[in-house]
Amino acid sequence: MWDFCTEPEFQEKLDWMAAFVRDECEPLDLLFPRPGDPYDVQNKASRAILAPLREKVKEQGLWACHLGPELGGQGFGQLKLALMNEILGRSQWAPTVFGTAAPDTGNAEILALYGTEAQKARYLQPLLEGNIVSTFSMTEPQGGSDPKEFVCKATRDGDEWVIDGEKWFSSHARYASFFIVMVVTDPDAKPYERMSMLIVPAETPGIEIIRNVATMNERDDLDEGTEGYIRYNQVRVPLDAMLGAPGEGFKVAQARLGGGRVHHAMRVVGKCQRAFDMMCERALSRRTQGKLLSEHQFVQGFIADSAIQLQQFRLLVLQTAWIIDNQPHGAARTHIAMCKVALAAVLHDVLQRAVQLHGSLGTTQETPLGPWWAYAPQLALADGPTEVHKAAVAKGMLRGYDPAPGLFPTEHIPTRRAAARARYAALLEEHGL
Ligand SMILES: Cc1cc2nc3c(=O)[nH]c(=O)nc-3n(C[C@H](O)[C@H](O)[C@H](O)COP(=O)(O)OP(=O)(O)OC[C@H]3O[C@@H](n4cnc5c(N)ncnc54)[C@H](O)[C@@H]3O)c2cc1C
Repeated sequence: MWDFCTEPEFQEKLDWMAAFVRDECEPLDLLFPRPGDPYDVQNKASRAILAPLREKVKEQGLWACHLGPELGGQGFGQLKLALMNEILGRSQWAPTVFGTAAPDTGNAEILALYGTEAQKARYLQPLLEGNIVSTFSMTEPQGGSDPKEFVCKATRDGDEWVIDGEKWFSSHARYASFFIVMVVTDPDAKPYERMSMLIVPAETPGIEIIRNVATMNERDDLDEGTEGYIRYNQVRVPLDAMLGAPGEGFKVAQARLGGGRVHHAMRVVGKCQRAFDMMCERALSRRTQGKLLSEHQFVQGFIADSAIQLQQFRLLVLQTAWIIDNQPHGAARTHIAMCKVALAAVLHDVLQRAVQLHGSLGTTQETPLGPWWAYAPQLALADGPTEVHKAAVAKGMLRGYDPAPGLFPTEHIPTRRAAARARYAALLEEHGL
């Protein structure tokens, strides 16, 4: 059955969310606009505004909805979560207000899946309550896309693991209470069994943040950077700091990305929709050559191309969420990779047109378009580069095909025509063909 309807009771929740995000979360975006601000748990002013908003979200039963019911979530399923994330994507602060900010969501997922009871009590609980933030420390300065290049290692010394090496782009490390660090524990094992995950409290001696690297939307001179370049100098943690078993680092890392990528993709839809709304308003407000921008065909092209691209992408993401909800585990893998590829391209294209339609104003920091536009390259890299995901899409698609049985393709017309002639030989002969 194909059905694009939303249940009326759930639509009411979405309507509440849309109004709440616009009226209550977007003011936080304006007051605390730096990318790191939602993660800065020490900022008393932003936290004072945040706390009562979170209570309202909890009263609505919408707090940390990505979690399964066993962890206090609603068990909504991915399709509903996708629709919710579309709304959250309109505001930088909304995921923090609703308890669904990355990378804490992914870190919470792997703690829930692989954590011992003691690890859950110490790290998962305060994370779920939104009292702390965490970091996922995997990428290294010499290699990101291919984890087989990682060299940061942990060696066993008595009843401790000793971590030695560097990590790069450990987001929000400066604000985190603990880091989940991917380390080589058995360099001689098969490539995908060499690594393990360790949970490292931020106060552990030997953690050195070399610098907080600033992205395009952050000012290095104002120390706004949020991407931690970290050196782990003989950092010691007890043996029970391991998340999962030794050698399970890849498995644990994979577990945190599935649903999260779909949510992320829908947040991009929400952001692009807001840029699209701005584009349409501008086209109807501004005049040139004696007529409105909206009456010029180039501008109509911008609007039509953006609407089509956005709608195609939205449907792809919703279908992916539906597959996760309705088909066996793993069935959505190729679709998730498609969403990951498309999200960076769609945001790039829609934002480029929106900036262009706003003329000089579009290039300033006086609208949200500039920072969103500068976000596009990050989207094409975070969680793995576009090229790697494209290769995964191609491999997934090719799995459903076989090579041609002979010299020519199965669609080769002379070969097929000969087969058709042989099939109807008697009839064709009867009619003199
Ligand atoms: C905003 C942001 C936040 C991030 N947060 C985190 C975080 O919290 N924790 C963390 O551990 N990491 C994080 N990362 C790092 C991210 O995972 C890496 O940037 C990503 O995996 C790519 O690694 P790299 O940057 O080293 O690029 P490289 O591996 O050097 O790749 C560079 C380019 O080479 C090409 N390339 C690479 N591999 C292939 C291939 N197989 N086929 C074809 N071309 C290829 C692609 O064009 C790619 O963009 C974050 C990145 C960004 C941008």
